[in-house]
Amino acid sequence: MKGRKSLPFFFAMAGCRNRCVYCDQARITGNWAAPSPEEVKKRLEELDCAVEIGFFGGSFTCLPPDLADSYLEATAAAPRGSSLRLSTHPLCLTPEAIRRLKGATLGTCPVSCVEVGISSLDDEVLKACSRGYTAREALKAVEGLLQENLHAGVQLMIGLPGQTPGSTFNDLRRLARLKGPRSMDLRIYPCLVLKGTPLESLWESGRFSPLQTEEAARWAGSLMVEALDLGFEILRVGLTETDSLSASFKAGPHHPAFGELAWGECLARLLTRNSAGGPWVIEGKKRSLLLGHGKRGIRRLAELSGQAAPEAVSRLAFWPKPKGPAKRSNRRVDNPENEL
Ligand code: SF4
Repeated sequence: MKGRKSLPFFFAMAGCRNRCVYCDQARITGNWAAPSPEEVKKRLEELDCAVEIGFFGGSFTCLPPDLADSYLEATAAAPRGSSLRLSTHPLCLTPEAIRRLKGATLGTCPVSCVEVGISSLDDEVLKACSRGYTAREALKAVEGLLQENLHAGVQLMIGLPGQTPGSTFNDLRRLARLKGPRSMDLRIYPCLVLKGTPLESLWESGRFSPLQTEEAARWAGSLMVEALDLGFEILRVGLTETDSLSASFKAGPHHPAFGELAWGECLARLLTRNSAGGPWVIEGKKRSLLLGHGKRGIRRLAELSGQAAPEAVSRLAFWPKPKGPAKRSNRRVDNPENEL
């Protein structure tokens, strides 16, 4: 549902079967109480244009079936043309839950995407994070959605306990084999240490070392190149910055514009892959990915192209002047690729 406004509702850890070591959705999103179905309905009745509704921050299909049905019924109050995107836990994508979502796709507010919080497909990493399922079970959940022709999305993480860049590349390739030529949405989140989480204790006792921001940006950027090659649509990289997230952050690659750093890395890698030593013609709207944040992208372009001086690299990068005024975009995703 591209080009549509999004209206997210947050259900902090609602329905979660267990506590993943790094998670505190209430602190991440700053939303402490889930709205009731009546509140969702009331908010949707106030709208005057179609939106993509989001049910995020918990495990929607793990909710008691009656409650899940009440939320799905509430979406019927949204203006015609609206749709629903939701996130959930792999173990709660049972055939019955998938049938319920499939049924909702026939209603006035169809399900546009079911995002599965997978985090990793490495069993050792899943265990270390107390995710409560195996890679095989996670893949089965995604497969169940695809078999019912529901559009699937996956949420992966980097920098988890015991995780390596190699294991995340492997995650993407396994998912790519499963999706085949279909498109699949992707979000990538760096693992942060938050106050009050089990991961905080691991970090304090020296049993977990989070990534540094630069390291995480490089890891995410290289993973994004692979994801684009494999036909994923990258919706988001990095957590949305909130006051609550800042206040509860303890350690790790926390940066308010982490997505831009990662996209800058991805762009520098794509440019040098296409032309190792330049020159590079870059779409104007991507300029900030190279010039922003102290010209980090330019510095990476210099390093990746083997040129000593960032100034020399700047002279090899060209961006055409925009033709006419830039159009405003109301796209849901924060993917600079999609802004072009
Ligand atoms: S990561 Fe997801 S499944 Fe785990 S506790 Fe948080 S919201 Fe629940």
